[in-house]
Amino acid sequence: MKTYLTSLWQLLFPNLCVACGNPLVTGEQTVCLQCLYAIARTHYATKADNPIEQLFWGKVEIEKATAWGHFSKGGTLQALLHALKYKNKPQVGYVLGEQFAVENATWLQNIDVLLPIPLHQKRLRSRGYNQAACIAQGIAKQTNIPLSEEVLIRNVSTQTQTQKRVFERWQNTQGVFSLQNTHGLQGKHVLLIDDVITTGATLASAAITLKQNIPNITISIAAIAVAST
Ligand SMILES: [Zn+2]
Repeated sequence: MKTYLTSLWQLLFPNLCVACGNPLVTGEQTVCLQCLYAIARTHYATKADNPIEQLFWGKVEIEKATAWGHFSKGGTLQALLHALKYKNKPQVGYVLGEQFAVENATWLQNIDVLLPIPLHQKRLRSRGYNQAACIAQGIAKQTNIPLSEEVLIRNVSTQTQTQKRVFERWQNTQGVFSLQNTHGLQGKHVLLIDDVITTGATLASAAITLKQNIPNITISIAAIAVAST
C-alpha cells in the first residue's frame, strides 16, 4: 500500500532531473543517470602533472590536484553547477560529491580531512549554503573522511574577476583567508574542495595560508569542474 501511494505520488508529482528536466526513476536522485554519465570526465586523477596541478606550480606546494569534469558552455555540468549556486539546489552538490568520491576512491584514500572553500559571510547569508561544503558532504558521506568547516574563514568577498589578467588576480588573493581551530591538523593531509577551478587563485590562496600556519601539513586539491579562462 505504501509503495502504491509512493508510486501514485510520483506519478502526480514526479521528481525531475535538475539538468535535463526528465522525470527521475527509482534510485535516481536530483540528477538522472543519463546526465551524470554524459558529463565529460577529465580523468586528471590518474595523470601526474595534469593541467590542474600545473596551475599551482611555482605558487604553492600541492601533493596532487584534480578536477572531475569539463565545464563547457551549455553543457550538463554547467547546468548542474548553475542550479547548485543560483537555484537553491544544495542537493546537486551532494550528488556530484558522491559521484566524485565513487569514481575517485583510490585517489581519496590517503586524505585525512576535507576542507571546503568557504564563502564570505555575506555571500553565505544570501545563498543560504556553501556549495563547496555540499560537495564535501557528498564526498564525506561516501568515504567517511572527516570534514571541517571550522578551519578556513573567508575575509574578503572576492567578486568574479574575469576581466582581470591572471597575474593581477594572483596579487589580489593575499589575505583572502584566515584560520581558526587548526589544532589537530599538524602533519595531516587535507583536501581543499571547490566547485569550479578557473585560475586556481582562490585555492592557491587558501593553500598558502594553511602552509604558512600549520607545520607539516600536506595539501591536495579537488574541484568538480575545470573551466578554461
Ligand atoms: Zn537528466
